[in-house]
Amino acid sequence: MEKTFLMVKPDGVQRNLIGEIVSRFEKKGYQLVGAKLMTVSRELAEEHYAEHKERPFFGELVDFITSGPVFAMVWQGNNVITTARAMMGKTNPVDAASGTIRGDFATSVGMNIIHGSDSPESAEREIGLWFSADEVLSFEKTIQRWI
Ligand code: ADP
Ligand code: MG
Repeated sequence: MEKTFLMVKPDGVQRNLIGEIVSRFEKKGYQLVGAKLMTVSRELAEEHYAEHKERPFFGELVDFITSGPVFAMVWQGNNVITTARAMMGKTNPVDAASGTIRGDFATSVGMNIIHGSDSPESAEREIGLWFSADEVLSFEKTIQRWI
């Protein structure tokens, strides 16, 4: 079953949006298989966002992600990587449609509430970076056959 890494960023945690965000993915029909509230080291933040290290906003991004707790999650389900990105909305909330998480709750490109893996390769890399194997569970819900 396809899995993705999603993270409520410090702004989402401090604005009490963990429940709202978890609820959207649960209602969609996805299954939460790993989750933890955690503080992020600079080392982990820099590794996570390594693809952006030459960008002008990199320092600001690492400062932001390490500024307070994040809620890191692994979700699984049909096409969860692409669908979660669609449910999050565009990176810049100005471009994010209403009904998406960023479209509904964010106003700035820096503080845009949520991270989600953008491809199967990043999902695998990010799940491995943020979670140990024993923190990602494997269990079946009896309701699974309906969704
Ligand atoms: P996404 O999170 O949608 O995958 P990117 O991978 O392009 O977006 O960027 C990673 C994160 O870096 C964004 O979610 C946002 O928090 C931050 N970011 C991106 N572009 C900018 C920018 N121009 N200024 C400030 N922060 C930015
Ligand atoms: Mg990205």
